[in-house]
Amino acid sequence: MRSLANKRAIITGGSRGIGLAIARLFASEGTSVTLVGRDEARLSSALDSLSAGEQQHHHQPPARHNSYAFDVSSIDGWTGMLNDMKQTQQNVDILVNAAGITQQSLLYKSDPAENQRIINTNLMGTIFGCQSVSQQMIRQKSGCIVNISSLLAVQGGLGASVYAASKAGIVGLTRSFALEVGRFGVRVNVLLPGYIQTDMTKPIHVAMDEKGNLSASIPLRRLGTAEEVADAAAFLVKNPYAHNAVLNLDGGLSAT
Ligand code: NDP
Repeated sequence: MRSLANKRAIITGGSRGIGLAIARLFASEGTSVTLVGRDEARLSSALDSLSAGEQQHHHQPPARHNSYAFDVSSIDGWTGMLNDMKQTQQNVDILVNAAGITQQSLLYKSDPAENQRIINTNLMGTIFGCQSVSQQMIRQKSGCIVNISSLLAVQGGLGASVYAASKAGIVGLTRSFALEVGRFGVRVNVLLPGYIQTDMTKPIHVAMDEKGNLSASIPLRRLGTAEEVADAAAFLVKNPYAHNAVLNLDGGLSAT
């Protein structure tokens, strides 16, 4: 898939942050985007921003974007969306699993229900996405999945035990699933971003900066942007030999 033109991508967590940046980049290169999130209003303003961005790129025909509001940790949500897309004859060429929630609690003091929610959203959401969407990709004999893990999957983080466990699960999932589906022309890769400036991390970054200088702990001396993560996702989708790749994008933080 050397070009993103005339493809359809499902992007979970597409209503803001990293998912939305990926949606914007893909749409700007001619991909029709299906955004998934929970909040209808946020999804609809994200869709508006995609169309607004596209008007600046006259070289592509207008792509058909849409959105579905459901909880990614519900398999019924996935099945409902895919049935609907099948009825309207929308193939799925690309899936980006970017929906996720974070954690700021010490495990020994944490709320079991919240821990379950983190695993359900981050890990089960990605598992259900891979499982359900790959069925169609296998039938098509082509497709590419990008899962968004985190540097914390391998490095760990204080107050993020369950989050890190969910993200480490995504790495194990990707590496094993890639062995299953490669022969059908379906590629699966995983991205491990470091500290990226988004809604999710803003409060954490502010707190960390108050305690010490967060940027100073990063070799490149700054946080990353959602657009930089989007570039990496596009690379993984476009490069036909990228399969089972585990790509860090962390300003060098993994080396510290
Ligand atoms: P944001 O909080 O900015 O966005 C999270 C997105 O996920 C929203 O679109 C939200 O939609 C969606 N979402 C959350 N829970 C669900 C759910 N149960 N079902 C459907 N959609 C859901 O986060 P980021 O953009 O920062 O993070 C995106 C991904 O990148 C996450 O997986 C995160 O773990 C990962 N990541 C982020 C890093 C960072 O520093 N920001 C670093 C490393 C990884 P809505 O609110 O409308 O429901």
